[in-house]
Amino acid sequence: MSKRTRGNDEVDDKNKSESLAIWNRPDEPNEQRGSGSTTADLSLESCSNSQSPVWQHVQKHGPHPNIVKWLDSFNIKHNNTRHYTLRFEMMGPSLAEAMKLQEHKFHIEVMKRIIKQILEAVKHLHYLGVIHMDIKPCNIMIAITDENIQNLANSKDRTHNRYDLNVTDPDSNIIVKIVDMGLSCIAERVRIQARPTCSYSSPEGLLTYQRDQSVDLWSVGCLIFKLVIGRTLIPCNDYNEVEHYEEHLALMEDNLGPIPDDLFKNEAIPEGLKYLEKPIRQGCPDPNVHRMLVDEAAKVIKSAQSCELFSELVQSFLKYDPEQRMKAADALDHPFLEPQSEESETERDLEAQMSSNEPGTSTSYQSTFLNR
Ligand SMILES: [Zn+2]
Repeated sequence: MSKRTRGNDEVDDKNKSESLAIWNRPDEPNEQRGSGSTTADLSLESCSNSQSPVWQHVQKHGPHPNIVKWLDSFNIKHNNTRHYTLRFEMMGPSLAEAMKLQEHKFHIEVMKRIIKQILEAVKHLHYLGVIHMDIKPCNIMIAITDENIQNLANSKDRTHNRYDLNVTDPDSNIIVKIVDMGLSCIAERVRIQARPTCSYSSPEGLLTYQRDQSVDLWSVGCLIFKLVIGRTLIPCNDYNEVEHYEEHLALMEDNLGPIPDDLFKNEAIPEGLKYLEKPIRQGCPDPNVHRMLVDEAAKVIKSAQSCELFSELVQSFLKYDPEQRMKAADALDHPFLEPQSEESETERDLEAQMSSNEPGTSTSYQSTFLNR
């Protein structure tokens, strides 16, 4: 049984040919993920009361190959509680699950194709005037074949899902789709508490309530780093703690250099202003971000030139100034994403090939979900 989550509410695909997203009615109190606050501020615009208007807006422009297909919405009643329910096409595991279970042994060419598809989805959403607001590996899902869906439907073992996904073959045709419009807005610019999940949140997402499509571009930069390098750029386990707010910003500055004070001071929320005015920040070191990214990439990518290009691409998204971040449409033409046949013998690829030849292992993808 596959599951997706929205906040604390779980999603079960009761009918295995589709998946359902279920949570409390829009007019009932609804915790916003990642914002670190459940206090409603009526002066702020709310974008997350219901996903349907965003889905309707997106789908009236026709299907996109890298955006999950929304089928319909309805209310269901269970234990005297009405639940607002969305029905989607059936998808396979999330990119986060696939990365974890494959121990980050994706072939570099497969990773490039996945990045391109994510960029295509973001480019389309931004063209339609949508801010997704929560781009991260959990919200990228991998498409599975009709045969896989049929096998899942016929399977008597409800504790395991098996998908034929080969992520180590450079020619593997993996299709990914963006999901979860729970925090999305149809707006050029909006003032709202909701922000992306902490590790994928831009500095303005933490320091201010101002959001525009640039928040998605920062998230894309963090996602590309995670996918290629295999670790979270700015890790975060404790985002609801007040102390963590400062710790996270400090970690961001440790990794990416000091945040220019003037950039966000005028729009900063009180906690943000307090952080920006801390005297200790004046001694904040300025790390060599390019060197760090190239060194990390070199553990995964054989070509020195590709390591340089990887650094250039990631840094183009991780600009503190939102206006300077590279647009998704422009990033699609970045040379890092061009296929490179000479990279087929990276250290990671060799390891992946060796592991696939070991007895008892398979290049096909197997995921295990506890049936709770
Ligand atoms: Zn954090």
